[in-house]
Amino acid sequence: MENYDVIIVGAGTAGCIAAKTVAEKGLSVALIEQKPQEEIGEKICGDALGEHHLKFLGLEKPTGGELEAKIDGIKIFSPDENTIFTIADKEFVGHILNRRLFGQWLLKKALDKGALLQDNMNFRSPIIEKNAVVGILAKNTKTGKTTEMHSKVVVDATGYFGMIRKQLPAEFGIERTIANEDVEACYREIRQLTQESENTRFCEIYLNQTASPGGYVWIFPKGKARVNVGIGTCMRKTGYPNPKEQLYKTALAKPLFNASSVITGGAWFDPVRRPLDSMVANGVVVIGDAASLVNPIHGGGIGPSMLSGYFAGRQIVEAIENGEPTREALWNYNKKYINTYGKKQGTLDIFKMFLLSCNDDDLNYGMHEKLMTEDDVLKAGMGDDFHLNITETAKRVFRGLRRVGFLNRLRLTVAMMKELGAHYNTYPETPQGFEAWQAQTIKLIEEGRQKLAP
Ligand SMILES: Cc1cc2nc3c(=O)[nH]c(=O)nc-3n(C[C@H](O)[C@H](O)[C@H](O)COP(=O)(O)OP(=O)(O)OC[C@H]3O[C@@H](n4cnc5c(N)ncnc54)[C@H](O)[C@@H]3O)c2cc1C
Repeated sequence: MENYDVIIVGAGTAGCIAAKTVAEKGLSVALIEQKPQEEIGEKICGDALGEHHLKFLGLEKPTGGELEAKIDGIKIFSPDENTIFTIADKEFVGHILNRRLFGQWLLKKALDKGALLQDNMNFRSPIIEKNAVVGILAKNTKTGKTTEMHSKVVVDATGYFGMIRKQLPAEFGIERTIANEDVEACYREIRQLTQESENTRFCEIYLNQTASPGGYVWIFPKGKARVNVGIGTCMRKTGYPNPKEQLYKTALAKPLFNASSVITGGAWFDPVRRPLDSMVANGVVVIGDAASLVNPIHGGGIGPSMLSGYFAGRQIVEAIENGEPTREALWNYNKKYINTYGKKQGTLDIFKMFLLSCNDDDLNYGMHEKLMTEDDVLKAGMGDDFHLNITETAKRVFRGLRRVGFLNRLRLTVAMMKELGAHYNTYPETPQGFEAWQAQTIKLIEEGRQKLAP
């Protein structure tokens, strides 16, 4: 049997930052990963990352090929492609990552601080004693040997499937399942073009509720005439189209892709909803995609996953130093994440419901007549309060006369986002009062779903 202060399962962006944060404080850390070391970082992803996420974490800009292209902003195309919103801000610098190299760069940071990597190790189950997680069982995929490992805290950083989260007892107070309708089914390819595209500085997003209901098609330039092209579509109860087929029918039918070749391709899932209401219990913490920490509108989760790894790591160290890493002692990680990014994620969950309620005509009209503006989208994306400049709404009402239903839904959305935002401001300081807070959260989210049902 092995013993550590902390076991982190999953060496993605969340797990590596958590491992670095804990190890640099001198605690013993095992980083358990099912992949071989050299494949860590590989992920089906759009590969886009805002530089502000690195700055917030005090990370320098990597210089070894991890950043493949610099991005000035995003262009959002209406379904008929007649209106283009250009979302750019002097504060915003984005990068398209070489995902494997970026993952290896983060891994090295954790290992340099003393974290011990155990690769080719498949997590099987948590060990639970006296209402607390005290370790894990993991199987070496090369030798077939199962090892029992014990620790004061176990971290679930296993990504979308939340392998530990879903095996926790219900009384731990951590949601075990994520509804399909809160998930985007994605397919993406990295393609080599025959020549560099005209656009190398903007990420392109194509809204189209027929091809990608509740999601979008993206084309992100990677430099050297390569692009990351993909599609995400909401897995709603009423059905959804096959993402790969839709990508071939839409983006890949564009002249840009004539005679292009596939470098790599694949499908994966993106959980796009509010964060888990609580991400801690006795001896266990959930971070990154395993805790549904992805922006519900654009699906970006690399930044929030690293942020959660950092906040979780710091709270784990404090809890262990002060005695028992109980739910109470770990609670402040919830609070920190909710205050910094979770509140924004929660309110954008409502905005996602609004987008799902729109058809292509609504979006064409709303974007063309500026019932929604670039500024709204920028503010929503940067996390500012989503005011929708109501003093200016009179003008919008005038412009929106032919789409009163759309405008009313938009105003209702803004009101519900405000109400949910105010509710997030009351996130409990300790586990006391959490159940009542969670019940109200579920009520507000369900109200949003019903009132904005398509
Ligand atoms: C198609 C797509 C496009 C996206 N585009 C973007 C984008 O452009 N920008 C952005 O910011 N975000 C994007 N995201 C989201 C982003 O990829 C994730 O939010 C982010 O990678 C989450 O990191 P993570 O560390 O939580 O999980 P992951 O990166 O999924 O890492 C989980 C790790 O756990 C390991 N693991 C899993 N199960 C086990 C087990 N049983 N035992 C041991 N190890 C295990 C996995 O091998 C993996 O290494 C996209 C997602 C998808 C699906």
